[in-house]
Amino acid sequence: MTIHFGFERTKLFIGGAWCDSASHETIDVEDPSTGERIGRIARGTERDVDAAVAAAQAALIGEWGAKSATERGRILTRLGALVEANVERLAELESRDVGKPLNQARNDAKALARYFEFYGGSADKVTGETIPYQEGSTVLTLREPHGVTAHVIPWNYPMQILGRSVGAALAMGNACVLKPAEDASLSALAIAELSLEAGLPAGALNIVTGYGHDVGAALSAHPHVHHVSFTGSVGTGRRIQEAAAANVVPVTLELGGKSPHIVFDDCDLEAALPTLVGACLQAAGQTCSAASRVLVQRGLYTEVKERMAEVYRGLVAGPASQSRDLGPLVSAKQKRLVIEFIAKGREDLTVAAEGSIAEDAPSAGHYVAPILFADVPPDHRLAQEEIFGPVQVLIPFDDEADAIRIANGTEYGLVAGVWTENGGRQMRLARALHCGQVFINNYGAGGGVELPFGGVGKSGHGREKGFEALYGFSRLKTISIKHG
Ligand code: NAD
Repeated sequence: MTIHFGFERTKLFIGGAWCDSASHETIDVEDPSTGERIGRIARGTERDVDAAVAAAQAALIGEWGAKSATERGRILTRLGALVEANVERLAELESRDVGKPLNQARNDAKALARYFEFYGGSADKVTGETIPYQEGSTVLTLREPHGVTAHVIPWNYPMQILGRSVGAALAMGNACVLKPAEDASLSALAIAELSLEAGLPAGALNIVTGYGHDVGAALSAHPHVHHVSFTGSVGTGRRIQEAAAANVVPVTLELGGKSPHIVFDDCDLEAALPTLVGACLQAAGQTCSAASRVLVQRGLYTEVKERMAEVYRGLVAGPASQSRDLGPLVSAKQKRLVIEFIAKGREDLTVAAEGSIAEDAPSAGHYVAPILFADVPPDHRLAQEEIFGPVQVLIPFDDEADAIRIANGTEYGLVAGVWTENGGRQMRLARALHCGQVFINNYGAGGGVELPFGGVGKSGHGREKGFEALYGFSRLKTISIKHG
């Protein structure tokens, strides 16, 4: 079978077949490195969402629903191997589509393969329990799929987010309808082709490309969808939760963040320094778990500031194909938003250092030079709001209590990093920080596929990744048998 990894993808993937959208309209695909139009995707509609949900329902009462957990696992494992065999082509596609440096897109493709491998291996490891109850009774629990699951995902890590959410949902026997972001649909469509090759039955995975306000809204409000998994902004998450509430179905929300990276005087600074910048600037800072706030204890503050500034002065943003330190941002809109934040920072704050844009970077590309602000008051907009660009703020603190207060002082709570050699402090911080993941003496920027991931507060609720996601993508049934 020849897998089509092209930029001109004007069909939807419904019921295992490539279909025209009801509108016959398309959306342009732009290369963020050059600003050029490189292809088109289909603009799906509410009618296409209906067709995709119907195909998923048919799969559940058909071939897909009849598969055992072990068979589902084998298909996912095969899909992982096919992704692995196509890492290079998937990475090139993604890199052109979202402007991500090729080396980072390659990591995403490898992570996608690993998600399918992990969920393939765990599909038949989810068990129920027996519960001691009345004399003469046996009580047991079963994990069942929700049914049709909806997956609405963003453009920053399209392959990884598809892998963690669709991978876990399929492992548990759900049938999925995926709406990728309008700026980043190509890799999902290529994966649909690979899923056919892996033997995934028709309708187990359906993909409707298009805009959020019509395809995403129709999907999250659909009366025959039984679970909605959303990754994206807080505003859209709220709308999705409202839409799903009308049908009283569970929702997983993976939203934004303003994650702190906390550096204590007693840390191993040589180990900490290389991660402080990198933990923010992956995907040009367009990462929900970006460590965009660096909190440094006063004894080390000046040294950390100077050494981070030195790193920043050497950073270069350039075309994705060149794998410079950073690629462009995904779109002109995203660049505009980030530039507004930087302008506000320049007005109010001290610039510690800036990187640059490569001289040969096309002028129509969406490049932003990375920038580090110093001595930032914790309540300043740049220390409170998610910027989703290559902007980092340095905040000094006095002691442990001060660090915890500042770290917990935003509406978000996704990830935190802590650098200290003091064992007691490591545990105190790990417990006191309001977030879903804490990294001590490392920063996993979301962590490996095995680690449950999700937020508190405005960062969302529910957990994806790891084994935990398998519980989220299933529901528990209790069976009580009276046998005397
Ligand atoms: P977004 O909310 O605008 O879009 C995300 C997805 O939702 C897209 O597919 C979009 O088409 C769709 N959508 C938009 N409006 C919709 C509506 N009314 N109904 C249904 N669907 C709709 O977010 P974005 O700008 O694409 O992504 C950036 C945001 O995502 C950031 O805030 C970032 O922190 C967050 N994010 C979070 C995680 C995480 O795991 N927590 C990961 C990546 C991104």
